[in-house]
Amino acid sequence: MNAGREIIAVASIKTQIQDLRQLLQRASYAYYVLDQPIMEDAVYDQFYRQLQDLEAEHPNLVTTDSPTQRVGEQPATQFSSVQHQVPLYSLENAFNLAEMQAWQDRWQRYWTSNHDHSLPEQTWDYVCELKIDGSAIALTYENGLLARGVTRGDGMRGEEITQNIRTIRSIPLRLNWDQPPPIVEVRGEALLPLAAFHRINQEREQAGEQLFANPRNAAAGTLRQLDARIVAQRQLDFFAYTLYVLSEPRDGQLGLFSSDLTASQQPTSQSDCLEQLQQIGFRVNPNRQRCPDLEQVQAYYDRWSTERKTLPYMTDGVVVKLNPLLLQAELGFTQKFPRWAIAWKYEPEQAVTEVLNISVNVGRTGALTPVAELRPVELAGTTVARATLHNRDRLAELDIHIGDKVAIHKAGEIIPEVLQVFAELRPADAQQFEMPSHCPECAQPVVQPANEAVTRCVNPVCPAIVRGGIIHWVSRDALDIDGVGEKLVRQWVDQQLVQSVADLYQLTIEQLASLDRMGQKSASKIVAAIAHSKQRPWSRVLYGLGIRHVGSVNAQLLSEYFTSVDRLIEASPAAIAAVHGIGPEIAQSVYEWLQTTSHQDLVEKLRAIGLQLVGEGKSAPTSTALAGKVFVLTGTLPTLKRDQAKQLVQRAGGKVTNSVSKKTDFVIVGAEAGSKLETAQTLGIPCLSEPEFLALLQQLEVP
Ligand code: NAD
Repeated sequence: MNAGREIIAVASIKTQIQDLRQLLQRASYAYYVLDQPIMEDAVYDQFYRQLQDLEAEHPNLVTTDSPTQRVGEQPATQFSSVQHQVPLYSLENAFNLAEMQAWQDRWQRYWTSNHDHSLPEQTWDYVCELKIDGSAIALTYENGLLARGVTRGDGMRGEEITQNIRTIRSIPLRLNWDQPPPIVEVRGEALLPLAAFHRINQEREQAGEQLFANPRNAAAGTLRQLDARIVAQRQLDFFAYTLYVLSEPRDGQLGLFSSDLTASQQPTSQSDCLEQLQQIGFRVNPNRQRCPDLEQVQAYYDRWSTERKTLPYMTDGVVVKLNPLLLQAELGFTQKFPRWAIAWKYEPEQAVTEVLNISVNVGRTGALTPVAELRPVELAGTTVARATLHNRDRLAELDIHIGDKVAIHKAGEIIPEVLQVFAELRPADAQQFEMPSHCPECAQPVVQPANEAVTRCVNPVCPAIVRGGIIHWVSRDALDIDGVGEKLVRQWVDQQLVQSVADLYQLTIEQLASLDRMGQKSASKIVAAIAHSKQRPWSRVLYGLGIRHVGSVNAQLLSEYFTSVDRLIEASPAAIAAVHGIGPEIAQSVYEWLQTTSHQDLVEKLRAIGLQLVGEGKSAPTSTALAGKVFVLTGTLPTLKRDQAKQLVQRAGGKVTNSVSKKTDFVIVGAEAGSKLETAQTLGIPCLSEPEFLALLQQLEVP
């Protein structure tokens, strides 16, 4: 029985491993050969880790063709393939300090195992460099002249792309070296600066060509262009980071540093190599730093995790190398990596996890939102267990099943959202999901308006809608009723104490005090807070009614123009639309709401209770959803005037400034945007169109 179960478990792990390998191989091919990645690097890294872990647990299942056993991809065939004189290895990855510490322990243990004592402190240090997100190339100089440029390929063999390399201005064709050694090999990263990347993609868009997914793929694709004239136009750049002075092969072994060099020319550390590379004519990244220990490495990492956003090129982490070359030589390489260096990658912006279930949330407008319930995963500083799937169309587009592996990210850096589904990894028992035909809250049939992707419950007494409406009413930006939140409202609605916002004002201290976990004192505080809300101005009451499309900005605009509810009830849609900033769709929605008999009844009840339905309505409701976020506006927006957009940002707690800098969080871009857009792209600041901005506000539930 047990043995049987074990066989099934092993078979399932084997399938998991095979599925992961197949996915990673397909991704690798798309990435290295086609330069058209099918997933984000961070997602690839997480699947790669999963495969590594499974293989480590089941070493008998490791095969030589596994992506974990290879560097890069086979060189493509357009160029001639060249053997690297010294293999061009990849780098091991670390994702946190603990992994950095484990790496340090590992190399120190390795050193100690080859000596009979441990390595004395202060005989070694680290050099930190930025991990430039480009493509590694190896350049061979013979007697000081550039003879060959080769891509990394599979680490052993790469493609000869000398003609293309010669177009890169920052690569010297002749070394600035008086009596150069016969063979010098320089390695480094060919990259496409962000400005060039955006320009190329713009040109490709105009020409109807497929866009490059990111600067790294664009650089790799450019290097492997068959027409060197195109390469020349693309303005690739290069940062050098490795210098080998190769002596003639002896017994088939290449010496890394040459006996031709005098002692003073002989570099002894990675820092020396970087200095020397600069002297012989290469561009070396200036943001390098020697660090005596991991604590300082971490400070460097932390600093560049944020400052990288100001660089005109992409980086995806920092590379930490042991500085003394002698120590590097002693430690050598594993099959894939140098033991003396590691890449500490920046925190990923996407995470991979599993869909445990899909639930449907009914909002106060009756909109049904499918939500993926996830295996909790860390993402950009928080644990994420739920992610929105938006609506029926998005569900169909993703073809998501319960049990699927998915990639998630935070839209606008805040709202978790499912981005990608990996159908290859779908377990056999995964379940398809369809939007329900009946509301999960009130069991009434839902409707699917023809021109909307949203599925709606239209039952006005649906508990979710009633609850949502009351939660909205008591919220800070509306009537701001202290001490009343979602939990209490849920309880009151469930126990049928309240069925509309008007019922709140009939609640008595005795009624509340008889509820679970509610003392006399809290009950009287709540009743007082509810009564106090009668003093909130007309604009807030109007907002609190929860009319579709009437957020706090629109409520403010309407209340300033229509100074009483009666004037608003009398107004035609055209009269409502005449308010500056109110469009016909909003006007229609307001009109229809106010003409509905049940809503008019509610208004009368509120009037009788003593709520403010008349007034100037000058108080500006605020939200903190965008607190601390800095926006810049550029170009002409399709519907919003500049002032309106500015007001929307400010109402949500954000700030609008005039110029784009590294402190800017978002740029809202309209037609004929100028240099601000360019600066934003160079700095890698997210740009939003007007609809994207409005969608963000909606997702953040900004009133
Ligand atoms: P890597 O990019 O993680 O690290 C090694 C590379 O770092 C070197 O080859 C070199 O090119 C570069 N580098 C940059 N700055 C450096 C510096 N200062 N010193 C030394 N090296 C420096 O590893 P890799 O083997 O090139 O590629 C694996 C990466 O490729 C993974 O992180 C993965 O995300 C990505 N990848 C993505 C997909 C995908 O589908 N998105 C597929 C395959 C691989």
